[in-house]
Amino acid sequence: MPLPAWALIAYLISGVLFILALRGLSSPASSRRGNRFGMIGMLIAVVTTLVTHSVATLPEIAIAIAIGGGIGFVIARKIAMTDMPQLVAAFHSLVGLAAVLVGLAAYFNPDAFGILLPDGTINPVSRVEMGLGIAIGAITFSGSVIAFLKLAGKMSGAPIMLPGRHIINLGTLALIVGLTGYFTTDQSIEVIAAITLLSFIIGFLLIIPIGGADMPVVVSMLNSYSGWAAAAMGFTLHNTAMIITGALVGSSGAILSYIMCRAMNRSFISVIAGGFGADDGGSGGAGAAKSDRPWKRGSAEDAAFLLKEAQNVIIIPGYGMAVAQAQHTLREMGDLLKEEGVNVKYAIHPVAGRMPGHMNVLLAEANVPYDEVFELEDINSEFAQADVAFIIGANDVVNPAAKSDKSSPIYGMPVFDVDKAKTIFFIKRSMGGVGYSGVDNDVFYMDQTMMLLGDAKKMVEEIIKSL
Ligand code: NAP
Repeated sequence: MPLPAWALIAYLISGVLFILALRGLSSPASSRRGNRFGMIGMLIAVVTTLVTHSVATLPEIAIAIAIGGGIGFVIARKIAMTDMPQLVAAFHSLVGLAAVLVGLAAYFNPDAFGILLPDGTINPVSRVEMGLGIAIGAITFSGSVIAFLKLAGKMSGAPIMLPGRHIINLGTLALIVGLTGYFTTDQSIEVIAAITLLSFIIGFLLIIPIGGADMPVVVSMLNSYSGWAAAAMGFTLHNTAMIITGALVGSSGAILSYIMCRAMNRSFISVIAGGFGADDGGSGGAGAAKSDRPWKRGSAEDAAFLLKEAQNVIIIPGYGMAVAQAQHTLREMGDLLKEEGVNVKYAIHPVAGRMPGHMNVLLAEANVPYDEVFELEDINSEFAQADVAFIIGANDVVNPAAKSDKSSPIYGMPVFDVDKAKTIFFIKRSMGGVGYSGVDNDVFYMDQTMMLLGDAKKMVEEIIKSL
């Protein structure tokens, strides 16, 4: 049944609102407005779909929403910040699986989807859409499951490099494309089953060669795949809103992956092709090199004294700040220093924390002014003039091994040049703890470094007291 004109216009409006939402989200200052646009757009799309479709009754849909929403609510309340990346991967797997199920539902019940021709066969164009939707959905599903297992530590984070993997991957992909084409001439169940199975396998093969340290890029790439899966299903369901939304998620996820690849100095092609051209060296989760080199321990009083005397202070927040929820206390400290005439700036690495924009969100929550927050490439040259580099819960993003140690899992990732600052304060809980990539950090042992060992929030509270 073709949709009434008003419904098409409503979908168009929600599509425009989604575009405005993405535009709003491109800057912290407009991100709240962007979120509101997105919420209104989604409300319009959902209400329009409910009113114009009669596949299920409203109570049935309400029950499904209550069950899914209830599970989502409980998970969101319980989830620890540390488990966020694997939760996101798990959610992407569900989007992929939903696309596969919708595609199969359309195959088994084409009449309900309006894709049955009078001769009793499925419209060939719909068969291509169905094949693509199922393929992208299945790749997203199995790829996300592997990403989940790696991130949750239920599977080794190290890359698993199969011999001849590029040929196997390219061959499997070519076979999926060929079968999708063949599906237009032969709609038998064996063809769709083969497409589904091969796609599950290729999703698995694409993600196993990717090491733990590159997982942030993989998660955003899978986010992009889930968008394309939704867009392909939008074609099967003849739903304009789904096509627009899926394409927006797909393209913005791809752009985010590209930005993160640049931030980590990884090849974009390498990541989407599943470790294509990746260094076969170890990656992710390597044991911490326990060093017996000497290091200096500082106190909150030492830090307060030197911070107050400084002219330029650059604060580098990382994952530990999120764990300690130290952002509000940190802003208080920054404000106190500014009152003393110190020039305070916050430096954010694109992969600091455990999700894209993690540090931006926390600093915004603590009302740190946006004009004091700088990205890596905008501030890195300023460390040479900085009196103090104040590292709070960051580790990998300041690790010079990324610049010099070819065997390091973070080799090649641009990092902050904190070693150029006159004094470095490094807040972490113990010398034994390591960052996400699990490697030792030369900054701990530098002449100008003072380790401030303790919980980030408590340490900053003590510094504030001393100030
Ligand atoms: P990091 O390398 O994971 O280091 C976190 C540091 O915080 C550690 O030194 C840890 O040492 C310390 N810490 C933890 N809890 C603390 C607390 N309560 N108080 C004080 N310190 C605490 O963090 P990062 O520098 O932000 O780097 C992020 C890493 O995560 C990168 O390797 C990145 O690739 C990866 N990653 C990023 C994303 C993303 O999208 N942003 C997603 C997944 C993975 P102690 O244990 O000794 O305290």
